[in-house]
Amino acid sequence: MSFDLESLAPSLISLIRLSSAVNAKDISFYNSIDATVKSESTALNQHLIDLLNELLPNAFSISSDQDGQLHADKKDENWKVVSSVLDTLFENAEIALEEGTKKEQTSHAKDEFTYLDENDTSGTRKSTPQSLKIEKPQLLFKTPVNNFETSPFKPLITSKPNALIPLQKSVQLVCAAPDVPEHYENPYSYEIMNQPYPEWILQQQESFDSIPWKESEEPTWIDNPAQLDDLLVELSRCRVIAVDLEHHDYRTYHGITCLMQLTTDTKKDYLIDPLSPELRPHLVNLNVIFTDPNIVKVFHGAFMDIIWLQRDLGLYVVSLFDTYHAARELGLGRHSLAHLLETYVKFKTSKKWQLADWRLRPLNSEMKNYAKADTHFLIEVFYKMHRELVQNPDKLKKVLYESRRVSNRRYEYSTFKPRNVKSANGFSSGAEVVATNQSVPQLPEFKNGLLSVQNATNLPWSNLADSNSIPMAKRPLLEVLFKWRDEQARREDESPRYIMSDFMLVSLVNAFSQDSEEVSERTVLEVVNSSSRFGGSQFVRTRLKELVMLIQNCLEELKQMDAALWDSVYETKPATTQGGSKDAELAFETVKQDFEAANRPIYDGIVLAKEAGNGVFAVRYTRNGGVTFIGADVKQQRLEKALEYLGSQRDVAVDVSVEPAEEQPEQPEQEAEAETPEPESRLTSTAPDEIITLRKHQQRRRKQDTPATEKLDTSQKIMVSKPQQKKRKVFEPYKNEGPVAAPKKKRPVTSGRNLIFKKK
Ligand code: AMP
Ligand code: MN
Ligand code: ZN
Repeated sequence: MSFDLESLAPSLISLIRLSSAVNAKDISFYNSIDATVKSESTALNQHLIDLLNELLPNAFSISSDQDGQLHADKKDENWKVVSSVLDTLFENAEIALEEGTKKEQTSHAKDEFTYLDENDTSGTRKSTPQSLKIEKPQLLFKTPVNNFETSPFKPLITSKPNALIPLQKSVQLVCAAPDVPEHYENPYSYEIMNQPYPEWILQQQESFDSIPWKESEEPTWIDNPAQLDDLLVELSRCRVIAVDLEHHDYRTYHGITCLMQLTTDTKKDYLIDPLSPELRPHLVNLNVIFTDPNIVKVFHGAFMDIIWLQRDLGLYVVSLFDTYHAARELGLGRHSLAHLLETYVKFKTSKKWQLADWRLRPLNSEMKNYAKADTHFLIEVFYKMHRELVQNPDKLKKVLYESRRVSNRRYEYSTFKPRNVKSANGFSSGAEVVATNQSVPQLPEFKNGLLSVQNATNLPWSNLADSNSIPMAKRPLLEVLFKWRDEQARREDESPRYIMSDFMLVSLVNAFSQDSEEVSERTVLEVVNSSSRFGGSQFVRTRLKELVMLIQNCLEELKQMDAALWDSVYETKPATTQGGSKDAELAFETVKQDFEAANRPIYDGIVLAKEAGNGVFAVRYTRNGGVTFIGADVKQQRLEKALEYLGSQRDVAVDVSVEPAEEQPEQPEQEAEAETPEPESRLTSTAPDEIITLRKHQQRRRKQDTPATEKLDTSQKIMVSKPQQKKRKVFEPYKNEGPVAAPKKKRPVTSGRNLIFKKK
C-alpha cells in the first residue's frame, strides 16, 4: 500500500480553503434572511450529524459516556464528542502515516522518539485470530453471572478500608424517589469527594524519570493471592501509582475487566490478572491502596475504568488524578494518552492491540508490552503535567475536582437507573450513574407487548431509531427486535451486538412491514445474510424460526392496530368554522373517551388529522391518557393505504380529493418547519383543520346499530393530500432504502408538533 499524498494534496488544500471560507461567513445570518438556505443548511447539518453518528462507533469517544450519539439540538455536547473522536481519528491517521514513512526509511534514521512497535511494520490493528476460540472466562468465576437483575447493583465490598463513614452506613438501600429507583450509593462517595489530596500536591515537586523503555524489565505477572499480598506491601510504600485496565465487552452481557496494569513510583510494572478465578475475589483488597487518600492514583481517562473497577472487582479510587482532565485544563489541543506520551516522554505508542481480545491467556509478549506501555510512563507524565499545573493553582484544583467527579461515578443496572429525562444523564446526589450500554430495563412496561410510553424519546432503542431515521410506523418492529435481542443477550451472557448487529436489526426493520407479502425463514434469512457483514449471524441462524415468528407476530399486531385505527376514527363534524385545532381536539377527546371505555391493550388509538399548512399528522394516545405524536411519517402513505383498503373492503370508490389545491403545502418540506416551534398564529391563520373520516367494515364492529354496508360518508371531507405522483417518493422514505443510509433528516418524535393541539 503506498500513499499518494502529492496527488491528494491539491484537493485537500482546496477542501480546507473552502471549509474555512464557509466558516468565516455567518451561517446564521444567511439562515435568517433566506428560507432555502436555512432549510438546506438544516438538512445538511442533520446529514452531517447522521454521518458522524455512523462514524462514531468506529472511533472510541472519550466524552460520550452516555450514548455516544450526536443530537442536532445539543451543539456543545456534540462538539465535545466530535473533538475527542477527531483526536482519535487524527492520531490513527498520524500513526498510519508514520508507519507508511517508517517503512520507506528502512534504516531507522534515529529521531528523538522511542517506538513501542519498532520491529513491527505490519501497521494494521491486531485482533485475536477468529480460529482461536477462547473459553468464556466468566464460566469459571466463583460467583456465576446472572444478567437478570431483580435488585439494584449492590457494591461488592464487605469491608471498608480508609473509611470516614463506616461500611454499614455506606452500603444501605436508598428508597425509591420519584425519579430515582431504589439503589445503593457509591459507598466511597463521601471519601472521594471530601478526603484531602496529600499536601504535597499543591507544591512544586522534583522531577521523576521513568526507566527508559528498552532498559525496563518485563512486567511482573500477578495471578494468585500470595503475589497480590506482596504487591500490596510494595504499593504501600508508594505515594504515586499509575493504573490502567483492559476490558472486553463482546462475549459478555455487562462487560468484563480482563487486565489491570500498575506502575509504581518505585519504577516497577505489574500486570494483574482479574480473570484468574483464584485471584479475582481477592482483588478487592487493593482498596487498602486505592482508597488511601495519601497515595495518588494516576489514570488516563478513568471514566470507564472507575465503573469497571466497582462493577467487577469492588474497587474504588480516592485521590484520583486523571491526566485526561489535566490535558484539558492545560489546554493541550489533544487529550489522548498517545499524545501525552509523545509530548512529555517522547514515546510513540501503538494502538494496534487496543481492540484485541484481552481475554486471551496466556497473553503474548506483544500484548504484554502494549499493556505495560499504558502505565509505564504515566507517573512521569503526571509529574510533568503537575509541574505545569502548580503554576496555576486554579487549574490544578479544577483537575482534582474533575478527577473526584470521575471517581464518584456509580455503576447501576439499567433497570434501576434514574429514568427521568433530567436525571437520566444520571445525577443522583451529584453522582453520575452509568449503566451497560443499550441494556433494556427489566421492567414490566418493557416486557409485554409494545410499549406505550408517553415520552417516546430516551428509550434504549431511541438512538438507534433516530440515527437510522426509522419512521414511527416502523418503530414497533424495531422495539420488538431490540427487546428480543436484549433478552437473548442476557440469557446467553453475550453482548447484544454479538446476538445481532445493529446493522442487521435495522435491516430487518426496513425489510418487513405490515404489507410484506412473505415473512418466512427464507426471506428473513436473506436479510440476515445480506446484512451479516458486521457479524451477529451465527446466533440468529440458530434461532431463525423464533425470529420469524417474532416478526410475524409483531406485524400481525400492527395490522390489528391499524384495524383498530380505522375502526376508531370518527366522523367529526367541524365544531366551529374557525380555530381548526378545536376540531382536532374534539376528535381526540371523542376517540379517547371511546377507547378508554374499550380498554384497548396496546396503542389505544390513533387519530389521523390533517392541518392545512402542516400536512397530515397523527396522534397516538395511551391508556394512561398521554399523547404522543406519531409524526408526519405515518401520514400520507398509510392514509392512502387506509383509503385503498377501505375502498376494497367496501367496494366504494374513495374520494381522496383535496381541499383548495392552491393551499396544499408541499408536504415533506414543511416538516422541517413543523419541527421547530411555530408561532401559533401560523397555525390558526390558515384554513381550519378537518378530521379525516374513515370507517372500516369490521366483523368485530362495536356499534351494532351501524349497518355493515354503510358507505363511506363522503359528505364529510376526506382531507388527504392528492396522491401527487411527483411527490410520491418522499412519502415512502423507507422503501428500498439501505438500512443505515442516512435519509434527509432525523425526526424528533414530539418536538414542535405538540403545538398543533395546544389549547387556544
Ligand atoms: P485503554 O484505556 O485505551 O487501554 O482502553 C481500555 C479498554 O477500552 C480497551 O481494552 C477496550 O476494551 C476499550 N477501548 C479502548 N479504545 C477503544 C476503541 N477505540 N473502541 C472500542 N473500545 C475501546
Ligand atoms: Mn484506560
Ligand atoms: Zn489500556
